[in-house]
Amino acid sequence: MDYHISDLRKYTRCPRSYLLEKADPEGRGVFQSYVRLDDEVSELAAEVLGITECFMGKRNDDPSLAMEALNTYEWLCKARFSYGGLRIKVPFLHRVEYGFELYFLFLGLYPKDLDLQYYCDTVWVLEQLGIRISNMRIIHLNADYVRGETLDVQKLFVISDTFYNSKNHPGKPLEETIRSNISDPTDLMAEMDRARELPIPDPVRSSSCSGRQMCRYLERCFLADREVPDNHISTLVGGTERFAMAEEGRQYLREADVSRLEGSPMQYAQVMADRNGGLFADRASLNGWMEDVTYPITFLDFEWERFAIPPYQGMRPFDVLLFEYSIHILAADGTITHTLFLSVHDDRRELAEQLIRDIPEEGTVIAYNAEGAEKLRINELIAQFPEYTAQLKSMNDRMKDLQIPFTSGFVYDVRMRGGWTLKRLMSMMDDPGYQDLDIRQGMDAVFRWRELDRDTEGIDREQIINELKAYCGMDSYATLVVFQWLQSILNESFS
Ligand code: SF4
Repeated sequence: MDYHISDLRKYTRCPRSYLLEKADPEGRGVFQSYVRLDDEVSELAAEVLGITECFMGKRNDDPSLAMEALNTYEWLCKARFSYGGLRIKVPFLHRVEYGFELYFLFLGLYPKDLDLQYYCDTVWVLEQLGIRISNMRIIHLNADYVRGETLDVQKLFVISDTFYNSKNHPGKPLEETIRSNISDPTDLMAEMDRARELPIPDPVRSSSCSGRQMCRYLERCFLADREVPDNHISTLVGGTERFAMAEEGRQYLREADVSRLEGSPMQYAQVMADRNGGLFADRASLNGWMEDVTYPITFLDFEWERFAIPPYQGMRPFDVLLFEYSIHILAADGTITHTLFLSVHDDRRELAEQLIRDIPEEGTVIAYNAEGAEKLRINELIAQFPEYTAQLKSMNDRMKDLQIPFTSGFVYDVRMRGGWTLKRLMSMMDDPGYQDLDIRQGMDAVFRWRELDRDTEGIDREQIINELKAYCGMDSYATLVVFQWLQSILNESFS
C-alpha cells in the first residue's frame, strides 16, 4: 500500500482517527482553518528565494517527472517524489555544485522539532532516491515583521538553519537534528497495512483528543461520557487516576480517593460539591474576588479573525483583526443597556474609537477569559493606536476575568460536568441561552464573518449579520448572567 507522508503523521498521532478518516473520507467535512490564509504562501516564499523559473509539481504528478526535472531545472517547487511506498511533496529543492539544498516551508513563527518525523521522512525518501542533500533550511514567517502600506515579502519571512526551543529562541541545529533522527519508516508502514485489515481500534484518551486542535471524532469516541451522571468521577478535571478509580467501583466524585488526586483547587471543589449535594462555594475567596467590583459594570466580549499573513498596515503575522464587540452594562439600580459594534474589512480605528465611547469611564469591566483574550486584544489596539493609550489602558486596568472564580475552584456545580465554558455555565441557568442561536461556537462566528469579508457569492449578508450580532450579544449577556449567579450564591450565604 502507498502512503503519503501526512498519513504517517496522522497514524502516529492516533491510529483510530487515521482509520476512521480512511473508512469515510467524506465524513471529515470541509476543513476550515482557524487561521486565515488568503495568499499562496509558496509563491511568496519562492519570491524570497529569488526563484524566477522552476519545475512546478502538481497534485497526482507521476514521481518520475520530478526525478527527470532534477537534471534540467535549477529549482524544483512542490515536487512529488516516492520511495518504498512513501510519497512526499518537497517545498523547494535547489541544485548546487555538490547536490541539492532542501528548503522546508513552515507556516508559523517558530518551527520546533515536534514534527521531526515529517522532516526526517522527507530526507529519508530523497536520499533513498540517491538525491544528495548538501544543506537544509527552513523558511518561516517573521514574528518581528510589521506590515507597512504594502507587503514586504523579503521581511515577511526568515530563513533559518535551526529549530526553535520552548522559549522561541533558536535551538537545535536543523540538519544535525534531522540526520540524527532519521529512521526507516518501512516497519511503521507495514504496521499501518496490518491495521487497515483489522477492525478499527477502541478509543484511547490522549492529548491528541482535545489538545490544541480538538479531534473531530471526540464526541463519537467518548459518547458514553455524555451519558454518565453529572457527578461521575470521569468528570474530575485533570485526574489521571479517574478512570482507574471508576473501574474499581468509585463511580462518583464524592467517592474519589483523595490520596490519588493531583490536589488542584478545582478537584477539591468538585469532590466537595458532590459531598455537599451538588454545589461548592468557597465564599470567602469568591467574596474577595467580588469586593472590588464597582458599578456601572461593563460585560465585554470581542470577536476577531486571525490572519497568517498581515492583510493591513500595522499588523504582524498571525495578528488578529477585531471585527465585533458586544457590551452589556449593568447599572447600580439594576438597569441593563446593550450596545454592539460589527464591521466588515478593516475598521480597527472606528472600533477602538466607538469602544472608548461605549465603555463608561468608571466601573469594572468584566470579560470571560479576559486574561487570554479581551486584555490581549485591547493591548493590541494600544500598540496600533497609541494615541488612545490612556483610555484603552484604563479599560484593562479595570478589567476582571470572570473565569477566575471557576478555574481557581472558588465555585463548582456538578452540572458543570468538569467544564466551565460560558455555554456550559449557561446551560445550568433558567435561560434559553445559546440554544436557539444559529451560531453557537466562536469559530463558527469567524467562518460566517469570513464569508462576509470575502464577499462570498450567494450569501445572505443580512442573515449573517443578524447571526453574528445574536452570537456576540449572547456572549456578553451570558457573562452578565453568570456574574449575577455568582452574586446570588454570595447573597444566599450572607442572608
Ligand atoms: S478522539 Fe481521541 S481516541 Fe478518538 S479518534 Fe480522536 S484522537 Fe483518537
